[in-house]
Amino acid sequence: MKHDVSNHTYRSSILIIYTGGTIGMKTDEKTGALVPFDFSGIYEEFPILRRLNVDIDVHTMPKLIDSSNVQPSDWCAIAEVIRDNYEQYDGFVILHGTDTMSYTASALSFMLENLAKPVVFTGSQIPIGLLRTDGRENLITAIEVAGARDGDKPMVPEVSLLFHSCLYRGNRTRKASAEELDAFRSPNFPPLADVGVKIAYNRANIAPAKEIEPLRIATMMSEGVAIIKLFPGIGEYTLRAILSVEGLRGVVLETYGAGNAPTAEWFQRLMRETVERGVLVLNVTQCDNGSVEMQLYETGLRLQKAGVLSAYDMTTEAAITKLMYVLGQNLSHEESVELMKRPLRGEFTLK
Ligand code: ASP
Repeated sequence: MKHDVSNHTYRSSILIIYTGGTIGMKTDEKTGALVPFDFSGIYEEFPILRRLNVDIDVHTMPKLIDSSNVQPSDWCAIAEVIRDNYEQYDGFVILHGTDTMSYTASALSFMLENLAKPVVFTGSQIPIGLLRTDGRENLITAIEVAGARDGDKPMVPEVSLLFHSCLYRGNRTRKASAEELDAFRSPNFPPLADVGVKIAYNRANIAPAKEIEPLRIATMMSEGVAIIKLFPGIGEYTLRAILSVEGLRGVVLETYGAGNAPTAEWFQRLMRETVERGVLVLNVTQCDNGSVEMQLYETGLRLQKAGVLSAYDMTTEAAITKLMYVLGQNLSHEESVELMKRPLRGEFTLK
């Protein structure tokens, strides 16, 4: 059931955290080149924002980046800004390049422990300073979502991603188009809200806030992780070289269909040896949607027997950032496996 519930009397305060990306570009009137937009002058640029029932402040990250350059240290820096401003604001809007936005949104969903306020990611395919920009609508809607209330509580108290008339759970998304304005998909989880004439929140899909504990940020994201995509013809020598790299702690293995991989003896042996060395191997499907079910075929069952873990219907983006988060916690191998097996932030659906 969909609801359009807003508390019109409460005036929310929102912090926009500007990290870079296409959304922040406008044309320099003198040179005609695209230059970064100064979001601190947001009300002068978009007077219409004054009509929203929110107060807006802007935090510009010290170094604006194309999101292809994003590093885990940037995720930490964003988490720290949220932590340092958590009490003063009702919600946060993160302006981010689209290329790696799903990675950052997934990472932040894990790093922000006990989150009870909205953190809404958005960006655009066309710079905000160009006439046909999609950034203006995305920005305005993201601000509305971050400020939306359900009675005396925030409507969407989790890490979400707003793009082109859809609000998604951040760690369920991936960038699916390099050209279309409708650039993001949430292949295995329905939208948290549909944006039309009204913003229709799908309340049953929104994770309720756990307000028992204060916000804590986890800033240790492990190195030593890799994504390996299987393809017919992948060679033993290459795979062995990757899997025997020093310091390897976790692997996201992109398999076929419902989590299937070759049954060749060398492949199975390599998987067993890797798992026995204590490396967490997580099975994600290469398919656009659907879930890993390793017990379905012999080709999946063998992986399961080798100790490979199912990622169920997680995206690769969520799987790799969850591995980095879990392995960054300094837990025992068993505890890490235990955390990988259960959804921590609604990142997968157990079958
Ligand atoms: N390369 C840009 C970025 O990810 C693309 C974008 O923002 O849409 O920062």
